[in-house]
Amino acid sequence: MAEGSFARGLFLGAIEEDLIFPWREGPPAEAHTVQVLIDDVRRFFEDHVDSAAIDRAEQIPDRVLAGLKQRGAFGLCAPQNLGGLGFSATASARALQEIGGLDLSIGLTLAAHQSLALRALLLFGTDGQKARYVPRLARGESVGAFALAEPGAGSDAAGIQTIARTVTHTASGAPGAAPGVVYALDGAKAWTTNGGFADFFTVFARTSPPDEGAKPKITAFLLERGPGVSSGPNQSKLGVRGASTTVVRFDGVHVPGENVLGEVGRGVRVAMQALDHGRLDLAGASIGVCKRAIKMTLDRCRRRRAFGRPIGEFGLIKDKVATMMAETWASESAAYLTTGLVDGGAEDFSVESAICKVLASETCWRVVNEAMQVAAGVGYMAGEAYERLVRDARVTLVFGGTSEILRAFIALSGMQGPARQKADVGRALQEPIKGFGLLGEIALRKARGALGRDGMTRHHPLLQREAAVLDRFVQELSRGVDNVLRKHGRDIAEMQYTQKRTADMAIELYAVAACIVRTTRAIERRGPEGARREVDLTRIFVASAEQRLAETVAAMDRNDDELRKSVATRAYADGAYPFDLT
Ligand SMILES: Cc1cc2nc3c(=O)[nH]c(=O)nc-3n(C[C@H](O)[C@H](O)[C@H](O)COP(=O)(O)OP(=O)(O)OC[C@H]3O[C@@H](n4cnc5c(N)ncnc54)[C@H](O)[C@@H]3O)c2cc1C
Repeated sequence: MAEGSFARGLFLGAIEEDLIFPWREGPPAEAHTVQVLIDDVRRFFEDHVDSAAIDRAEQIPDRVLAGLKQRGAFGLCAPQNLGGLGFSATASARALQEIGGLDLSIGLTLAAHQSLALRALLLFGTDGQKARYVPRLARGESVGAFALAEPGAGSDAAGIQTIARTVTHTASGAPGAAPGVVYALDGAKAWTTNGGFADFFTVFARTSPPDEGAKPKITAFLLERGPGVSSGPNQSKLGVRGASTTVVRFDGVHVPGENVLGEVGRGVRVAMQALDHGRLDLAGASIGVCKRAIKMTLDRCRRRRAFGRPIGEFGLIKDKVATMMAETWASESAAYLTTGLVDGGAEDFSVESAICKVLASETCWRVVNEAMQVAAGVGYMAGEAYERLVRDARVTLVFGGTSEILRAFIALSGMQGPARQKADVGRALQEPIKGFGLLGEIALRKARGALGRDGMTRHHPLLQREAAVLDRFVQELSRGVDNVLRKHGRDIAEMQYTQKRTADMAIELYAVAACIVRTTRAIERRGPEGARREVDLTRIFVASAEQRLAETVAAMDRNDDELRKSVATRAYADGAYPFDLT
């Protein structure tokens, strides 16, 4: 396949359609295997999983975890020769979509285990490390946790304080490490999913002294539970209560140098690349929740009557359903366009995966909110499925990177291309969110090498209007980025309002492109009438995206950013809302 990042190209005004056309589906044999797994998982959940009880007990029963292990659900992405199912990115996200939709506590448990902890090992492990740990993890004999965030450092991963000090030298060590180094690990990780029972940790720690310069060296380690590793009690949460979330402490834990994952001092790269993959699975899980919410809503629309009619007959309810459908369609299209790219060999998809995570999680939140509104009084009652749905869905906006951080990442990464054409702005872009720029240079070279056309040609003619929207606003994005970089140079790194607008445009445009590619494939396969429903959903989504894009473009020139900043600054000084009636 062609190299480069489609999303990064958008910032340069390029629509690299050869990267995204045709819509990719996995090999039929794999699709069959995934379907068999999904059918089996559905039956298993129907017969053996009581999600309301899991929520109440704040624990997933061992027999449920055992059933999932038996079905291979702990080793979706691990290669078959190491005991996993060897799923592609598409198959893995599809499986997590199913499981996340059935029970997000279980989805999160599996995501932390394999989309992050195991994934980091698969991406950066040596053959020896993989042979040692992957089979056990893939079979679920070991459960993994991804121990990055700390009480004082969540979004700012580079600010972690857990430290790995060199204590002794023995045998030979990892690349970059002195031969035979043994580390002593000290620190605490917050909110670690699977923290209560995981026996394997992908853990991140500083390997430079706290006083050595502003930029710490962070290293990833593979660690088995043993002396010095302790977990706090399960933390009660708003939602995903079945998932185990605990503090994990490391007190002088000895880790041999051979357990360094990747290179010493390059741990942020390990974390970021694992998260690139993990965010696609999280997007899948969010889409699963959307589909569940839509199903519940459709059922409610049929059964609940008001004013002598089923509520589904009211225009305002139909409007909600249409929006829920179209937004879910767009998120699903974006997520599986991206997994298709990954399966096709794309190496630079960090911007795409961040886009998918933001899009799917925010869609998920809107969709469950509307589902609850359609259910109205029943929706608000404790113990009803809607309540759990909303509580659970909220985590998707935080886990795997918050929407704010990911927007900044999308904007600053995307702007590296245009910025590198302008003096040294590029380096400054990387500073506010440490580690984010790691893939930038490689990505940029690739994106630039692939640039050429700047308009859609491969869409089906039925989608001409939608393609024109994409063409027009990609140019607007590129023009807007060019303007702000010319005007503000390196200051753009601190201009978060502009970053948000830029990211919002990139997210919309990527979703529009994904809908067009997928719908084109549907029309080619089944003809315009056969693909009528896909065309309709794409039209609804693109029409509303067009409005949002137009507003965003207008706000690039005319906005009240400074006013808003001063209101917030004043509110910080007041410490409270200062007005009352008197
Ligand atoms: C249920 C649950 C499970 C989790 N599981 C894991 C896990 O298994 N492993 C793990 O490592 N972590 C885990 N986390 C932690 C999670 O990754 C962090 O909560 C998340 O990264 C945000 O960090 P924070 O909570 O410290 O928020 P903060 O970083 O304190 O952010 C607070 C607010 O400020 C915003 N903000 C921060 N920096 C910026 C900026 N530069 N620009 C604009 N806005 C900014 C954020 O978006 C947010 O709105 C889990 C969290 C939850 C809730």
